[in-house]
Amino acid sequence: MEIKVLLCNCKGLCDSFKDSDMNKLPFEVESDLDVTYTVLSPQLCGQGGNAILEEAMKTSKPDGYLLVGACAPKAQEKLFKKLIRATRFNEKHFVPVDIRGTDNAGILDRLRGSVEGILKQAEAGPSPAA
Ligand code: SF4
Repeated sequence: MEIKVLLCNCKGLCDSFKDSDMNKLPFEVESDLDVTYTVLSPQLCGQGGNAILEEAMKTSKPDGYLLVGACAPKAQEKLFKKLIRATRFNEKHFVPVDIRGTDNAGILDRLRGSVEGILKQAEAGPSPAA
């Protein structure tokens, strides 16, 4: 199962990320979870972050997932709606996770829960493209 993980720490300026260590986190995610790769952008909703996300969507396998650890899922849905539409990425395979307000262990737990959810969803059968 292809699961690409993209992380964002809101420019490194937001207090919600003060307890996390973003230098260590990508390595920890790749060590602990069965994912394809993990990348960190300081601003996924900015120019560079959008370019990374676009590439990840465009090169994704038809059954691949994008797990995005950043701000609130509702905010992410709004921020990335255009990009999902433009790349025709299956929006059901876009999995936003709130990683704010905790430390690396807490973030890993949240991401682990989402990976387990993805695997269950994949076992249940293919989801139709939106
Ligand atoms: S995607 Fe969310 S967490 Fe990342 S910079 Fe934008 S608003 Fe901040």
